[in-house]
Amino acid sequence: MKGLASQVEQKIKFAAELFRQAKHPLVLTGAGISTPSGIPDFRSEGTGLWAKKEAMEVASLSTFRYNPAQFYEWFRPLAGQIINASPNAAHIALAKLGEAGYLNAVITQNIDILHQRAGSKNVIEMHGTLRTLSCTQCFHQHESSLFLKDFVEDGKIPHCLDCGAILKPDVILFGEQLPQRAWLKAQKAARDCDLMLIVGSSLEVLPVAGLPMRTLDRGGHLIIVNQSSTYLNVRADIVFTQDVATLLPALTEEVLNHD
Ligand SMILES: [Zn+2]
Repeated sequence: MKGLASQVEQKIKFAAELFRQAKHPLVLTGAGISTPSGIPDFRSEGTGLWAKKEAMEVASLSTFRYNPAQFYEWFRPLAGQIINASPNAAHIALAKLGEAGYLNAVITQNIDILHQRAGSKNVIEMHGTLRTLSCTQCFHQHESSLFLKDFVEDGKIPHCLDCGAILKPDVILFGEQLPQRAWLKAQKAARDCDLMLIVGSSLEVLPVAGLPMRTLDRGGHLIIVNQSSTYLNVRADIVFTQDVATLLPALTEEVLNHD
């Protein structure tokens, strides 16, 4: 744990102990885990490509329906950042924890596919994914890898290979329902878990922000790793405000070293 203060080291030891005792640990991640990979949080004021108010307007289902070109113009730099990003040390640390049997599921608010690319299994994507696009007319789903490079480089808006209609990324826009299957799976996972690790989420976006309450209500433990304060800091067993890309590898190492 080089470079971390001894007080932080003690907290990491305590957190690792909770992981070793847990029977059903899981992690909930938000935009903060991907910022070290260079992906801005478009839902947060000041850190995104646009101010939050503008993003809420453009990254919405109604803008997509009535002015898809405007939506795609806004989405293009974000898509570029996502396709050029790589998983960072925090994603990799979580994948290692999962591989060693210390994480039952990864619930994420991110659309960037970086958990899967780092090797995590059982990733529940609450806000959809950029991995696929769906046709607005015939509803066929297409792998986004077929379209994203041309879109990012030349601004070519993706159209359905079957019927020619415009494709919508399978990401959840403002004003759109959460994917039902993912939501049910996440609720069950949060109920069943006895330790929830929250990484890089300020727990401001409902209903995902309510998931840790299900764990707490059943006597489960909570560990929060986030730079800003969340409404559940007062109820967490441990709160870390360090950089996720430093903290998570140290925590994973501490959990695994005692195996
Ligand atoms: Zn189609």
